[in-house]
Amino acid sequence: MTIQLHMDSHEGTYTRKFNAKVKASFPGIVELDKTAFYHIGGGQPADNGKIVWDGGEAVVTDVRKKNRIRHFIEGDSPDIGTVIEGEIDWERRYSHMKMHTSQHLVSAVVNEIHGSDTVGNQIGDQKSRIDFKPLSIDQSQIEEIQNKVNDYISEDLKIQISEELRENLENNSEIRSSMSSGLWKMLPSSVKKLRVINIGDIDICPCAGTHVRSLREIGQVEFTNKKNKGSQKLRLTYKLNDF
Ligand SMILES: [Zn+2]
Repeated sequence: MTIQLHMDSHEGTYTRKFNAKVKASFPGIVELDKTAFYHIGGGQPADNGKIVWDGGEAVVTDVRKKNRIRHFIEGDSPDIGTVIEGEIDWERRYSHMKMHTSQHLVSAVVNEIHGSDTVGNQIGDQKSRIDFKPLSIDQSQIEEIQNKVNDYISEDLKIQISEELRENLENNSEIRSSMSSGLWKMLPSSVKKLRVINIGDIDICPCAGTHVRSLREIGQVEFTNKKNKGSQKLRLTYKLNDF
């Protein structure tokens, strides 16, 4: 099984370059003993970047996980046992980290003010969107959400990565309601522990994505679009601005 460096620490999440050993190699696909590349999932796109080794190099164009983590490459093909150096396209990944962390924060604030569940999201490096249900709001209410989100960012709340027992989470009323309703049903009963992301004491959310260390890194959230998706579902789109 490939060790995912971002999973258990902020240091791992902020790893831009790493060494790893090739465990399997097929034309256009490489598997490693460990990786800092994020695979597509949870609304967050896969990382891009490159791998280099003595005598060869390849561009990483996609990363996917289905039982095993496969790096899709273009270029040379390394042999099994080769030690490679991987390097992530950091600008793109860091944008995803900021966007993804803001998604947790916006979801928490909308849940706090309006009681709505997050029923979908798509992270991008320029803009991201979240679908809420049920939610019906006007422009002044969007501004209220935006102000509250940016107030929390100004407080620079710290973000923690931890592992929690599923039974403790299922019985915890602090867990965001979208998680207590939809997500649990999708998890196989064999999953007993979950990786959890805390934002200060305002949000607890099971998630395997990449997040920043503290809210101030995000900058400022600005909502750019609101779209009614029918059956009480509302899609909010946002971008991030520097302080
Ligand atoms: Zn997340």
